[in-house]
Amino acid sequence: MRTGINHLFIPGPTNVPEPVRMAMNVTMQDHRAHDYGAPNLGIFRDLKTLFRTTDGHIMLFPGSGTAAWEAAITNTLSPGDRVLMARHGQFSMLWAQMAERLGLKVDLIDVPWGAAAPVSEFARRLAADPAGEIKAVFITHNETATGVASDVAALRRALDEAFHDALLFLDGVSSIGCIPFEMDAWGVDLAVTGSQKGMMMPPGLGILGVSQKALKASETATMRRAFFEFSDQLKNNETGYFPYTPPVQLLHALRAALDQMMAEGLDNVIARHRRLGAGVRAAVKAWGMDLCAESPAHYSDTVTAIRTPEGVDARDVIRIGYDRYNASFGSGLGPLAGKAFRIGHIGHCNEGMCLTAIALAELSMAAAGAKITFGSGVAAAQEVYASHTADAARIAAD
Ligand SMILES: *Cc1c(COP(=O)(O)O)cnc(C)c1O
Repeated sequence: MRTGINHLFIPGPTNVPEPVRMAMNVTMQDHRAHDYGAPNLGIFRDLKTLFRTTDGHIMLFPGSGTAAWEAAITNTLSPGDRVLMARHGQFSMLWAQMAERLGLKVDLIDVPWGAAAPVSEFARRLAADPAGEIKAVFITHNETATGVASDVAALRRALDEAFHDALLFLDGVSSIGCIPFEMDAWGVDLAVTGSQKGMMMPPGLGILGVSQKALKASETATMRRAFFEFSDQLKNNETGYFPYTPPVQLLHALRAALDQMMAEGLDNVIARHRRLGAGVRAAVKAWGMDLCAESPAHYSDTVTAIRTPEGVDARDVIRIGYDRYNASFGSGLGPLAGKAFRIGHIGHCNEGMCLTAIALAELSMAAAGAKITFGSGVAAAQEVYASHTADAARIAAD
């Protein structure tokens, strides 16, 4: 029997704020009523603010991030199109697998799990393609499996310097709404996220930012799609409606989540993630353990993947955390199974939650056989959080 609350330290689904959860507790609505559409226009408007786009369109699909991946690909590319992708973690790997399944010719660059997207190699391949055979480049902004954030602005520069016209696809499932993301400034054509990570909502919505250039591409792209057809969405979304029954509850949750983010202020949301991530990484350093992430320039502020010491099975850490301390840590995915566990510090999260995660990770790791000085990680994170007190106080006063 587990008592108390389950501490959800996985990087998705993430904790849902009470106002967001309560916002879903409404009676069913007539989704064709004359007054149903107008409030949704505000949702689209605020999502554009969140995505930092004025030219782009937002589209909402029932489904998850994976569904939004599929919508992005099938609407804008054609079978046999050459695309450039990298594999450096579970999610970039799955995305490449999907692209292959859908009949794209994938130029795949394998880099170690823990490395960032290989932007200089992307640049080399783009520069070597003056004929523009590569139709799209894909980047996983924040590889949730390894806790690595990649440099999208640098990829944009590489495209521009090569005068390359490829569409830029971005997986922002664990980054948008948490760490800096600039759809327009970075020239992102298809930006994908889901509801259950940085958006602080339950799973069930795929959210897509679509540039004008991507819309144009969708007019001639011949890959088959039906449910995900952009033009159906566009036509209906114009007045706040959807081509088929929308997930009414989730739209209420989305409204409440956006309200919460806007009230905190997007810059403050980003600063908070930066602060929380720095604290968790300081704890890992104090434990004398390694991050999966190879380079400090690419540390993720939404999730930390921790390599367990030789002889300590990360699966034991996770099981002990769950069974004994009612705490859920993220598992090591793919080749990292047993070798790493993850702490999510994404979305509805604060210092107290991170310190609890660190304290329970210490207990769980010690029980799994790791040599841990109790409190070492907690103290290191407290130092980080204390040094941000002035910052935090200012935010609280806002
Ligand atoms: C979670 C995640 C996905 C998959 O999204 P689902 O909502 O589970 O379909 C894709 N990419 C990244 C980076 C993720 O973190």
